[in-house]
Amino acid sequence: MRLQSILKPGTTVSFREAVDQGIAEDGGLFMPVEIPRLSEGFVASTRSMTFQEIAFDVARCLLEDEIPVGEIRRIIEKSMSFPVPIRILDERTSVLELFHGPTLAFKDFGARFMAHTMAYLHRNDTEERTILVATSGDTGSAVAHGFHNVQGMKVYLLYPSRRVSAIQELQLTTLTGNVTALEISGSFDDCQRLVKEAFADKELSRTKRLTSANSINVARLFPQTFYYFNAYARRLEGGRPVVFSVPSGNLGNLTAGLLAWRMGLPADRFIAATNLNDVLPRFLESGVFAPAQSIATISNAMDVGNPSNFARIMYLFDGNVKDLRCVLSSASYSDVDTQRMIVEQFKKNQYILDPHGAVAALALHHYFETEKREIDGIILETAHPAKFIDIYEDWMKKAIEVPERLRTMMQGTKHSIRLSATFDDLKTILMST
Ligand SMILES: *Cc1c(COP(=O)(O)O)cnc(C)c1O
Repeated sequence: MRLQSILKPGTTVSFREAVDQGIAEDGGLFMPVEIPRLSEGFVASTRSMTFQEIAFDVARCLLEDEIPVGEIRRIIEKSMSFPVPIRILDERTSVLELFHGPTLAFKDFGARFMAHTMAYLHRNDTEERTILVATSGDTGSAVAHGFHNVQGMKVYLLYPSRRVSAIQELQLTTLTGNVTALEISGSFDDCQRLVKEAFADKELSRTKRLTSANSINVARLFPQTFYYFNAYARRLEGGRPVVFSVPSGNLGNLTAGLLAWRMGLPADRFIAATNLNDVLPRFLESGVFAPAQSIATISNAMDVGNPSNFARIMYLFDGNVKDLRCVLSSASYSDVDTQRMIVEQFKKNQYILDPHGAVAALALHHYFETEKREIDGIILETAHPAKFIDIYEDWMKKAIEVPERLRTMMQGTKHSIRLSATFDDLKTILMST
C-alpha cells in the first residue's frame, strides 16, 4: 500500500513509513493513494465467517504487499481477540457492541492493532521504542492496554492530575511493567505541550526513539473498517438496505466506515451522530467547515470542536460535498435528548445505551422518520455504560452490570509518578530510565 499526505498528493510513503511518522512532514494526514477493493464475492461469503476471519481478509486486502499473510494473521489473532456481537433491539434496529475490549470502548480496536503492527514492523530493532501519549482519559487507556506487554515498546502516559474521572484514572494507572503513568500537575493542554516539547527535543527523541500513538495514525484507522464488514455480514440475511449510525467526535470511526464503503462495503448510508459539537452537521447543511471551541457534554469522547479526520473525509470525496451528501447525513443532539433516549430504550427494550450510543440511536430514529423505505439500522455502540455510570439515575444504575474486567481494574492499585508541568522534569524522568 502506498500512502500520501492529503495536503500534498504525489509524494508517497509505504505503510511502515506512514505508521512510524504518524503525520506527514507537511502536517497532513496520510491516506492511501489508491483504495483497494475487496473481491465481488467477498461480502456474500462473510455471512458464514467469524469477525476475526473477516478482519483478516480486510487487513490482507489493505496490507498484504507489505506484511506477509502469516504475520497479518498473527496480528489479527493478537489484537482482535474479543467478541463483536450485534444485538437486535427491534425489527429494524440493532446495536453493534464495540466495547468488549480491555478498556470497554471501541478505541481498543485501533490501539491494539497499532501495537501489534508496530511490534511486527520493528521486530528486528535492537533498542526499545518509547511511546509517549498525552491523554484526557480514554485514548490513553486504550493505548496503554494495547501496548501493555508488547515487546520492544515502553509507554509513558501523561494525564492531568485530578482532571480525569475515577474510572479513567484507574484505567490509566493500574498497569505496570512497560507502562508508566505520569500524573502532571496541570491541564490536558499542558500534557499535550509537554509531549510536543519532548518530540521537538533532538537529544530526547533520538536517544529514546520517541514514537507517537496519536489517534490519527493509519494503524489506528484501518482496523476500524473491520467491524463494519462484520456488522453487515450479520445483517445480510434481511436483504434490506443497511444504514450505520456512528457516534462521532474526531470522525475517525466515521472515516473508517466510509473507507470500508470505498473498499466495497455495500452500506446504503452513514449517519454521523454528534452531540452539541455540531461542526459536521453544519458543514453538510451549509458547505462551510467552521471549527469551533468544544462544548462539554455527557458524551464527552465526542466533545471535539475541530475534528481532524474531516480532511480525510474530504479526500475520500475529492472535496465534493454533493457526493458526500449522497452517502452521509448528520445531526446533533443535546444532553437532554440523550438522557431521554437512554431511558426510552431501557423501558422499551431493556437495553442500556451509553451516552455516545444514545446519540447514535437518536440520529437513527430521526432518520427512520424521514424515510419511507424499509431499512436495517445499525447503531455503533462505542462504550460500555458502566464507564459513564455517573450520568445514570439511581434506578437505572442498579441495572448496569459492571463487567468483570472493570471490577478487577477498580480493585487495582494506582501507580503513578507525579510531575510538575515543566519539560525539564519530564526529560529527567524519560532520560533516567
Ligand atoms: C472516541 C470516542 C468516540 C468518537 O469517535 P471518533 O472516531 O473520534 O469520532 C465516540 N464514542 C466513544 C466512547 C469514544 O471513546
